[in-house]
Amino acid sequence: MLIFLRNDADPAARERVLALLRGEGIPADLRTQGGASFVEAPPEADRLRERLLALPGVERVAEDPAYRLAAGKVPEGETGSRVTVGTVIAGPCVVEGREVLVEIAEAVRAAGARMLRGGAFKPRPSPYNFQGLGEEGLKALREASERTGLPVVTEVLDPRDVGLVGRYADMLQVGTRNMQNFSLLSELGRQPKPVLLKRGMAATLGEFLAAAEYVLAGGNRQVVLCERGVRGPGDETRNVLDLAAVPALRSLTHLPVVVDPSHATGRAALVRPLARAAAAAGADGVMVEVHVRPGEALCDGPQAILPSELERLVDECLAIRSVLADRASLATGA
Ligand code: PEP
Ligand code: MN
Repeated sequence: MLIFLRNDADPAARERVLALLRGEGIPADLRTQGGASFVEAPPEADRLRERLLALPGVERVAEDPAYRLAAGKVPEGETGSRVTVGTVIAGPCVVEGREVLVEIAEAVRAAGARMLRGGAFKPRPSPYNFQGLGEEGLKALREASERTGLPVVTEVLDPRDVGLVGRYADMLQVGTRNMQNFSLLSELGRQPKPVLLKRGMAATLGEFLAAAEYVLAGGNRQVVLCERGVRGPGDETRNVLDLAAVPALRSLTHLPVVVDPSHATGRAALVRPLARAAAAAGADGVMVEVHVRPGEALCDGPQAILPSELERLVDECLAIRSVLADRASLATGA
């Protein structure tokens, strides 16, 4: 069990936590890791939970040491390096070529996106599907980024490609099928670029956070979580968007959370309504697939929205965020 201490907890407050535990015969150690201070104690300390929470200086008690760095608050001194995801990340499913990518990048920028997405290495269910352009796709992403000023996020499938993808991308994506590829996650922890980690399609939130922990524990504190839907019973929608995960993650972790309504639904008509719902649930951003000619898309055409639809989506998400911010400042009197 982990007892997280507030940033402003003084040495006397820490001592009181240790004294309470040790006085009850429970071994306890003070630790600092990645800027967070916490006391580590065996699970039997749970019987003292209420008394621990009542002590000044105690912020929260976490059950699961599997994600101690992801849990709790932004570590002291790290506020400035917290990944900002912008409101909307947009682009094609797959990079199809240089010209069409630049055309899409310019369109999504004009529609209000803050970051460009697009796969150069694609995790396709069949080996006979188009697998992406590889390094040529990465070069196209770099060029589109330079033309538009939008940073780019793209998926890395293989630990051996982390260096290559990192040379071109501003942020590296781990797809749903790789959420528990622990050697890939560890490799990403050893490099400096931010990581967009998508939730495994059948992963619990605990497993999701433990996967993020692999990156954090490697020394890379810049992880953004992406809820992209989990497997459900029907096929009306591609997945079931778990919007409850957004506020639930908010209470479990300091990591930013974005929502991908495109892979969640698989249907273009459902993307904008669910992006609005994600903004209302408190997501830090959304990631959506956009194409200038969805009918010609090489991958995921049915879920690609047009740039004009993206423009409405951006407007609506911003409007929802500003209503929520106004209400919050009215409530706090700020
Ligand atoms: C993607 O975003 O390109 C992708 C393949 O999504 P997911 O891993 O969520 O299926
Ligand atoms: Mn896709």
